[in-house]
Amino acid sequence: CGVMAVYNHPEAARLTYWGLYSQQHRGQESAGIAVSTGAEENAITDLKGMGLVSEIFTDPVLARLPGHIAIGHTRYSTTGDSALLNAQPISVESTKGLIAIAHNGNLTNLGNSRQRLEKDGAVFQTTSDSEIIVQLIAHSKGHTLVDCIAESLAQVDGAFSIVMMTRNRIFAARDPHGFRPLAMGRIIGPNGGPDTIVFASETCAFDLLHAKYERDVEPGELVMVSEDGVTSHFFKKGVERQSCVFEHVYFARPDSKIYGRWVQQSREEMGRQLARESHVPADLIVPVPDSGVTAALGYAAESGVPFNFGLIRNHYVGRTFIEPTQRVRDFGVRMKLNPNRSLLEGKRVILIDDSIIRGTTSRKIVRMVRAAGATEVHLRISCPPTISPCFYGVDTPSTEHLIAASKSLEEICQYIEADSLAYLSLVGLTHSCTTGEPATGMSPASFCTACYTGVYPTQVIDVSEILPAPA
Ligand code: 5GP
Ligand code: SF4
Ligand code: MG
Repeated sequence: CGVMAVYNHPEAARLTYWGLYSQQHRGQESAGIAVSTGAEENAITDLKGMGLVSEIFTDPVLARLPGHIAIGHTRYSTTGDSALLNAQPISVESTKGLIAIAHNGNLTNLGNSRQRLEKDGAVFQTTSDSEIIVQLIAHSKGHTLVDCIAESLAQVDGAFSIVMMTRNRIFAARDPHGFRPLAMGRIIGPNGGPDTIVFASETCAFDLLHAKYERDVEPGELVMVSEDGVTSHFFKKGVERQSCVFEHVYFARPDSKIYGRWVQQSREEMGRQLARESHVPADLIVPVPDSGVTAALGYAAESGVPFNFGLIRNHYVGRTFIEPTQRVRDFGVRMKLNPNRSLLEGKRVILIDDSIIRGTTSRKIVRMVRAAGATEVHLRISCPPTISPCFYGVDTPSTEHLIAASKSLEEICQYIEADSLAYLSLVGLTHSCTTGEPATGMSPASFCTACYTGVYPTQVIDVSEILPAPA
């Protein structure tokens, strides 16, 4: 998912819309914006819908969202149902007023918190784990709102990068491991007036707003923006840093700074490292667009083999083809990618992609490239084999659908019908995300790599067993 927040701007909803638009790749299922004018009587207005940001937030819709404070969310479901019910921001009434939340990540130790809260009188509106956080806040006995939020956040485990709003304040917080990204930016106020403070999952969201990246929200940190300016509190300290390495592999855009480092830099280095680890003689480097492009550029630069777009992506393919049935998915691959015959004919091709999940797409692409006249097709993957699902906010299928969970490298290679197959090593991956200048303070050990190792930084329980089905 992608989150966005804007404090102090006359067109807060429009800026949030732009921020969500730039983060559409982080979730295409639903989107929502909540705004506040600061007035007591209609504290927070929110609007949520299924579909793409631009489909939901047309001009007339944005006009119904006046205010100078806003938060927003783009969702793809990892827990809870994908219905409108679970679209965010989620607003909950509390003794401290209405609180709205937008959450990226997954909570992992809900235990009986939901049942406990319901006993305390909480009425849950959604089946999403994100609502737990606001309900905890709403039922907290702390003195100040900051106390309540800090106390609630200290109780939940797992991945959360969140933005929240009340009538007149914005809060941004990140779980103590720092699983998911969250950045803070600033738009300098016109004519010496007060600045606009913004938060986003990815810094690419700042560019459209002419906001300047200032810093990351730190793991375990709660940032509050109010009339009194920006203040910082740590609700938990001394927890091992475990930031999602997959953001650098696939999820984030190359033009974003994630954990203070350009994704472009990491991804190109993954390609270079992949070439150093497993190069074979070839005539052409072909990326699987779009996710394989940046690593392929690095691979080509390191190996000296020419790079070209041997697969053309149709950018107008809609969400219909990301639907989860196998038949639609199969057809979808051919709708989305077509071989560029004039480049492939008679060539020994190295295909570069970021990951193999089920293996079905990769197999189709290998076949497609061969059918277009390639004499050899070698597949290179810019991360290690994905052997374990993610419980921290990335929608990987369960273990039985992960091809690398049950098949050896050789068996996968056979299945996808490639002449050879190689993955980037784990050491190579974390090295790629930390090497070079400028240093960011992240070390190879600061990354979560659980989907490649099966070793999870937190105790993992299946949240779907706790959250009841919707009525
Ligand atoms: P497969 O061969 O496993 O069927 O598909 C591999 C492709 O899925 C790669 O091109 C990769 O970019 C893409 N992919 C990797 N991770 C994800 C993910 O979390 N969600 C989606 N929709 N695609 C992914
Ligand atoms: Fe990222 Fe994988 Fe860890 Fe999930 S399990 S947070 S995808 S590195
Ligand atoms: Mg891809």
